[in-house]
Amino acid sequence: MENQKSSRNADIVDCNSLAVDGDVPNGSALIFLGTGCSSAIPHVMCLIQPSNPPCQVCFQSLSIPPERNPNYRCNTSLLIDYCQSDGKHNYILIDVGKTFREQVLRWFTFHKIPRVDSIILTHEHADAVLGLDDIRAVQRYSPTNDTDPIPIYLTEFAMASIAKKFPYLVQKKLREGQEVRRVAQVDWKIIEEQCDKPFVASHLQFVPLPVMHGEDYVCLGFLFGEKCKVAYISDISRFPPNTEYVISKNGAGQLDLLILDTLSKIGSHNVHFCLPQSLEAVKKLCPKRALLIGMTHVFDHHKDNEFLKEWSQREGIPVQLAHDGLRVPIDL
Ligand SMILES: [Zn+2]
Ligand SMILES: [Zn+2]
Repeated sequence: MENQKSSRNADIVDCNSLAVDGDVPNGSALIFLGTGCSSAIPHVMCLIQPSNPPCQVCFQSLSIPPERNPNYRCNTSLLIDYCQSDGKHNYILIDVGKTFREQVLRWFTFHKIPRVDSIILTHEHADAVLGLDDIRAVQRYSPTNDTDPIPIYLTEFAMASIAKKFPYLVQKKLREGQEVRRVAQVDWKIIEEQCDKPFVASHLQFVPLPVMHGEDYVCLGFLFGEKCKVAYISDISRFPPNTEYVISKNGAGQLDLLILDTLSKIGSHNVHFCLPQSLEAVKKLCPKRALLIGMTHVFDHHKDNEFLKEWSQREGIPVQLAHDGLRVPIDL
């Protein structure tokens, strides 16, 4: 167990250079709960109908446990451990996808996350919201649903979709004769799809970053952090000019960390960035560093990070693939 822990930490250490004034163990941190695409990795078909030769990336999941396999990727999700100046921790979760329960079991225990204080949703696609039923798993047990609700920040559009997917999470009062059944207790908070309409979740301010996720769909990214500025953009095919301005060095100011969507390694895709567009965006926005998320099985973590290391040296901006369980200490 101890060995497993130190080897996991060794993998994590190389991304720790964002810590300000050394690594403050009690300070704020970002924990990547998921870094994979909607279908998650391993891709099921690569295991049940293997190609010849089999998919190297997905086949690793048969011999390496997920907590030591950076090619095992759940749905994209970020846990912000925000430590206030008085030392109080706030746990803010971005997105609750199909693999949420598995992510909690694996990483909340490892990183000692005791609870979720608030939730922010980027959009209403399955890989961002289908774990909402399991929110009750991280809430105090009460057979009568008498427990503090967790605030969930989302757009009006996402709210309408979730009301159809999870009517019982939206229903305010029981109908006459309806039995009490234990469900997640949540407090829905509507946010605007506009960069100039920030909101505060668990004492941390977030600026919504509307981006196109396909030309017919707006998804939100988020900008947060006062001391270090972080932008999280998990689903994007194009930056509208306003959003680009807010997070670019030549616009409102340089990001300390950009966390950005990259679905596939080559070519382009109608609703996501692939590596060429992601790297182009990194060059244009010019953050101090960037971590990529949302990868399919075409990415082989260590191999592709070697390529990215060379790219980073050439372009002067460190860029790496993130991996599930990665913890990045950062002064927010
Ligand atoms: Zn595969
Ligand atoms: Zn999506």
